[in-house]
Amino acid sequence: MNAPVSHLSPLPHLPRRQWLQYLPYLSLALFLAAIAALVWLTRAYDADEQRTTLINDVLWMEQNLRFHLDRNEIHLQEIGPELFGPQALEPQTEARVAALLGQERGLIRILWLSPEGTLAGAIPPLTGDRPPPARSGNGENQTDARETGFRLASSIGRAVYGAHYIGPGGLPLFDVYVPVWSDDEPLGVVVGVYSLPDLVMRELPWWFSERYRVAVLDADEREIASKSKVAPVSSSLAYTMPFDPPGHGLMLQITAYRSDTRWIPMLLGASIVLLAIIIVWSVTQLRRQLARRQEAELALRSESAFRKAMEDSMLTGMRARDLDGRLTYVNSAFCRMTGFEREELIGLRPPMPYWDPENLEQTLELHRQIMAAGSDPEGTEVRLRRKNGEALDALVFEAPLIDAAGRHSGWMGSVLDITEQKRAREQARQQEERLQQSSRLITMGEMASTLAHELNQPLAAIASYSSGCVNRLESAQPIDRGELLDIQERIGRQARRAGEIIRRVHDFVRRSEPKRVPLDLNGVVRDAVGLIEADARKRHVQLRVQLAPALPSVPADAVMIEQIVVNLVRNAMDAMHDTPLAARSVDICTGQEGRFVNVAVGDRGTGISEEAAARLFEPFFSTKQEGMGMGLNICRSIAELHHGRLAFGARPGGGTIFTLSLPVENDAHD
Ligand code: ADP
Repeated sequence: MNAPVSHLSPLPHLPRRQWLQYLPYLSLALFLAAIAALVWLTRAYDADEQRTTLINDVLWMEQNLRFHLDRNEIHLQEIGPELFGPQALEPQTEARVAALLGQERGLIRILWLSPEGTLAGAIPPLTGDRPPPARSGNGENQTDARETGFRLASSIGRAVYGAHYIGPGGLPLFDVYVPVWSDDEPLGVVVGVYSLPDLVMRELPWWFSERYRVAVLDADEREIASKSKVAPVSSSLAYTMPFDPPGHGLMLQITAYRSDTRWIPMLLGASIVLLAIIIVWSVTQLRRQLARRQEAELALRSESAFRKAMEDSMLTGMRARDLDGRLTYVNSAFCRMTGFEREELIGLRPPMPYWDPENLEQTLELHRQIMAAGSDPEGTEVRLRRKNGEALDALVFEAPLIDAAGRHSGWMGSVLDITEQKRAREQARQQEERLQQSSRLITMGEMASTLAHELNQPLAAIASYSSGCVNRLESAQPIDRGELLDIQERIGRQARRAGEIIRRVHDFVRRSEPKRVPLDLNGVVRDAVGLIEADARKRHVQLRVQLAPALPSVPADAVMIEQIVVNLVRNAMDAMHDTPLAARSVDICTGQEGRFVNVAVGDRGTGISEEAAARLFEPFFSTKQEGMGMGLNICRSIAELHHGRLAFGARPGGGTIFTLSLPVENDAHD
């Protein structure tokens, strides 16, 4: 049988894509960069948006202020002729002036000056003759500023704004000078006094002041009025623009309040970073796990390759069955043995196709026994049949299959093909039997002549006794009854002796199976000596028998043991061929040693040379001219068949001693 060569099959090479393992990190880095860029862009866009909104709002405010100042200018222009009337102010004029002052338009006072520049009137009226000297933002005092404004307005005939100055109570103020004409005649100049804080602060809608801090700066960038709430301002979002009108270096500074910390984007950002950390960690863990898995897989693959090679190289058939008796696994050796393919067998339930159809019932019974309790520890012999119909004798060993959870999940059986062994054993047995028989026949042939002589004796005795008897009957003398009886008894004894000799020969020659019965070894020795006695006498050999009393019986086949004894005695006599007549004796003794009873046959013959001793039990080894060389070989086989042994050694004082030992209790079977 060709067993597959047992070596590990090379493992397939894994593709070397080292860069692949960095791919998750790379994509993660790119992902984070993209997120960061997105956040940055959003913020930039946000800032841009805020800036645009700021500029729009500022432009709107400027326009609003300009529109406001222009409207006031028109109102003052309209109301002017009424102010310069000859009489005192009419009530509706007063009401309009009050409305102008009271509409929170930033105007806190209206004066009107004659074309010469003298104060013609004021609402609300000025307290005292002259207003207290106040410094304007440009270093001029209020009177100078008013002077300049008045003159400029009168000369150009258009409204003119004066520089700002600090009024009573530290209030930053500025004036607008509106020349009033009546039919090309200058009536005078109406002066509107604006309070900077009122104008800037009150005029602005609430939403504007919610978003921005508005401040008015003078030419030296000193803050002279502001509207602010208690809130931090943004450093980046500020816008400064000239405040014109009134001009004169006044600037408007608008700064956006810093918006509240935006928690949601921050939280989002933080959670993205956290998630990224978690992803990096889990990718690392995953890689480690993967590496461990790969290692385990590699180990598993080499292990299974090793197992496969081992399994394929095995000569013992293996097959596994589940608890229902269904085949779940067969190895190559089992397939080779039965001749079936693996695919044909897996999943099959009893009766199996490789069972012997002639012994189906017994095999099924055996199968049930095995499924219930496993096989005999020494194996169970079973007759199977190959796919091609040949008989297959197998020795089956079953072991329970325990799964990973420790449950008994089936049976694993190893199957040994013992067909050849059995055949060889049978052949050897038959051969041995034939040899035994021929050996017996040879022995019998050799004995035949001596037996004829032996039988002659009782027969001659019977003949002479009977002729003596006849003679006495024919004579006239009266016959003594007792004498006649004695003769008859003698005749009977001789006849029995002859009969006994014939029975022994018959027993010896008859071919029969070994019959183990409790045996008295002394009796067997006696029978054997009885058989060989005549031959011994012929050869002038003295047979000395010494039987141990009360020997236990041994389970043995009497004929076989007798054959051994006869053989040993015959060999002993053969060895004494050249021994002086006086010394020719064979001692046959029985005895017991522990669990064994034995019979020893000692001679005073040539002894056994070392060379002969080495080959003594070989078949066909003989030093005799007509010897067959099978005697001792058969004797040893018989001894071993009875679980006994046959030994030999030099006998003290010359010669050889052969000893056959047999166990008293023999519980082994054939
Ligand atoms: P065979 O008697 O036909 O030769 P055996 O197997 O009985 O065959 O004996 C083999 C050989 O062993 C004999 O030829 C003889 O040389 C030797 N042998 C056997 N018994 C004795 C003995 N008692 N003394 C010396 N040699 C012996």
